[in-house]
Amino acid sequence: MTETSQFMRPEQHPFLGDENPFKAMMSRFDYAAELLHLDAGLYKVLRSPEKQIIVSVPILLDSGEVEVYTGYRVLYNTSRGPGKGGIRFDLGVTLDEVRALAAWMTWKCAVVNIPFGGAKGGVVCDPLTMSVGELERLTRRYTSSIIEVLGPDSDVPAPDVNTNERVMAWIMDTYSMHHRHTVTSVVTGKPVELGGSLGRREATGRGCMIVTQQALQHLGMPLKGARVVVQGFGNVGSIAAELLQQEGCVIVGASDVSGGLYSKKGLDVKDVIAWRKEHKYVSGYPKADAVTNEELLTLDCDVLLPAALENVITARNAASIKAKVIIEGANGPTAAGADEILDKKGIFVVPDILANAGGVTVSYFEWVQDRGGWFWTEAVVNERLTEIMVNSFQNVLAVSKKYNVNMRIAAYTLAIDRVASVHRLRGLYA
Ligand code: GLU
Repeated sequence: MTETSQFMRPEQHPFLGDENPFKAMMSRFDYAAELLHLDAGLYKVLRSPEKQIIVSVPILLDSGEVEVYTGYRVLYNTSRGPGKGGIRFDLGVTLDEVRALAAWMTWKCAVVNIPFGGAKGGVVCDPLTMSVGELERLTRRYTSSIIEVLGPDSDVPAPDVNTNERVMAWIMDTYSMHHRHTVTSVVTGKPVELGGSLGRREATGRGCMIVTQQALQHLGMPLKGARVVVQGFGNVGSIAAELLQQEGCVIVGASDVSGGLYSKKGLDVKDVIAWRKEHKYVSGYPKADAVTNEELLTLDCDVLLPAALENVITARNAASIKAKVIIEGANGPTAAGADEILDKKGIFVVPDILANAGGVTVSYFEWVQDRGGWFWTEAVVNERLTEIMVNSFQNVLAVSKKYNVNMRIAAYTLAIDRVASVHRLRGLYA
């Protein structure tokens, strides 16, 4: 990257090492934009989020008091199709984070070549301290506050951190009540009884498993016996761990917010899932050694699968990572400042916008099924998911060889090229 480049003005990006997710996204975007010789106009357009909504969400708490929460929905780019992306409920939600996540959704949908743009939403709250009734009121009021952008042809939410099928059912119902008829395709990740797709819940974890297979095959490493550490044991991490174990991998480490577990001979993933279900957290699990979350990331292993939140691999700990392969199940788990360190160590990183794209891919299948009113078997869903994940991995690998760049920059390059070409074909409406 040249210092004088129009794409990477040092005063705009003085941060390599910065952990602001939007800046982290932008620095990789800039790199790819320069590789593509993106023209200056399109560069400006693709750097700018299309629409950003901030809402106050007042709800009645069980105590009788009123509390006001802040909610966001960002539509980053909808040139390839409706906005697509999850809604998260978390205390750490910020506009910058939601904006970065919406941009990542844009590139992610383009990497797997599904006809969606990118969007994301979030509400600043601590769902673990809220009752089911409070969560339902929060979800419905947030939905009605952003209802003008939602719709099967305009913006289609899905689950993300701390939201699930039940939350999606409330969104679908709120939207449908306003429109006076049932609209299942306004949201994905719904319960199967309400038009959800078989295989959607497992899809992100399954996609991670498929790209792990691809990565190890590419590197000439055997899948059977590969030692895997999974950071985060929610919907993505626990399912990826289970599926990888079924494929013969040894899950030597796992963690959630409460702490980490290590077992040299391998954890029984089903047993850890059952323990967590009963005790809420993995810590205290008796058949493994306890490790801290920081220690877990630097355990000796073949594959590290971060599957929780942003910025767990940073310039501070990247040099100590021993894994040979990183599969980014989470969005943005690697800060921009860590990329170069991982590259120098020869670690093969399958980036988030490819590794965790299985979820949105099956969301697309769900949307297609809802609109067609014709539902597929789980075997068909998984077969089509496998085909898309394998092709996408191979496409990104081909770009990485063509430009001699790592898989992250290759994935951005492929995605930005696809989004840019749609902009060129559509032209600028003025
Ligand atoms: N929240 C998931 C993601 O970050 C799924 C998004 C979707 O299915 O729309 O990819």
